[in-house]
Amino acid sequence: MAVVRRDIHYPADQCIKCTICVEHCPVIKVTDKFLGPKQVGPDFQRFRSENDDPHDVSVDYCTGCRICDVVCPSGVNISELNIRSKIAVREKEGIPIRDTLLSHAYMFGQIASFTAPAANAFLKFRPFRWLSDKMLHLEKSLRYPFYQRESFEKWIRSYTFKSERKVAYFYGCFTNYNDPSVGKAVVKVLEKNGIQAVFPRQECCGLPLLGNGNVREARKLARRNLAGLLSAVDDGYDIIYSSTSCGMMIRDDYITYLDLYEAEPLFDRMKEVSEYLWELHEKNELNTDFIEVPMTMAYHIPCHLRSLGIGFPAINLMNLIPGLTVRELGTYCCGMAGTYGFKSDKYEITRAIGQELARQLAKTDGIYAASDCEACRMQIENMSTKKAVHPIKALLWAYGIEPVGGV
Ligand code: SF4
Ligand code: SF4
Repeated sequence: MAVVRRDIHYPADQCIKCTICVEHCPVIKVTDKFLGPKQVGPDFQRFRSENDDPHDVSVDYCTGCRICDVVCPSGVNISELNIRSKIAVREKEGIPIRDTLLSHAYMFGQIASFTAPAANAFLKFRPFRWLSDKMLHLEKSLRYPFYQRESFEKWIRSYTFKSERKVAYFYGCFTNYNDPSVGKAVVKVLEKNGIQAVFPRQECCGLPLLGNGNVREARKLARRNLAGLLSAVDDGYDIIYSSTSCGMMIRDDYITYLDLYEAEPLFDRMKEVSEYLWELHEKNELNTDFIEVPMTMAYHIPCHLRSLGIGFPAINLMNLIPGLTVRELGTYCCGMAGTYGFKSDKYEITRAIGQELARQLAKTDGIYAASDCEACRMQIENMSTKKAVHPIKALLWAYGIEPVGGV
């Protein structure tokens, strides 16, 4: 039996009904299928008990962006209430096949990467997409991310750089199977600073499972990740990550949702890659031997970066690069929200939320747009003609490791 607890994790009674969360929620602005953060969060929470959870279907429309938590002046952990409520509904009613498949995408990564480019051709095959939409409600008009034949894990077998100074790197499944160029850029930028990357044993962080209400399996993955990450911390290494969503899941959610209190030492030792490099700069230890990168770079702040509360270190870093003009778009949620955007019943919502991002991108010069989250980068390419890149690529170019635009 699912339990929606009422305890100090989410002080619903602190809600002063200011409706600031409602003003900022990207979903309620574009659909009336979602009742909104205040209603579904603290208002409903007052009627929840261990044995009697209100059956709230509308909570399924919450993207989990966590903007409501960031803006709430009373510190109500609204998104946590929503996620717990979603888990309760799923535990009672079961998880739909479509959501089970999406949250296990990490399992297909290995085979899809091994069989690329054939797997990519299959993912583009119109009858397959039509069938997936009809049978599983997977949106047919969305571009699926492609798989790379050489995964990041394969590439690191040829990585030979050695240094006394080391940092552990959690690269995540998207970098591993879909965009190894991000991982390569991280490793090469570290190398320019005399730092060797080490790679603890790792699997999917578990966020897609949690987001789809599968706490049990998320916990299994989390335990395996913790074995590798805690051992890296015991060896004296900080841990960097290049996906803000993976970082948030491991740093915050392993404890909050999965009750894995052994993850506590990670809170101070996990750094988002730009945060880590910016800290080097603040200690005068960052190599700033940059060449000019004459271009405008649009920059979209991911919601989960806001949720981490570490500021916007990628902007600081990119501003160090001569010739590079950074245009922060001033946008909030992109609408993609991980697996949410792949669901055909959510597709129109995803597109409607992404309109503001599309407008701002269209107004910005240049062909590149940076964002630290892979889902945001997917949405940038869905909604504009810009080429989406991780901000680490700007440093790769500034160090002259790759020509501008190269990976
Ligand atoms: S922002 Fe916080 S205090 Fe205001 S209505 Fe929402 S939950 Fe309540
Ligand atoms: S997490 Fe995002 S989508 Fe969900 S209620 Fe909060 S602001 Fe709205």
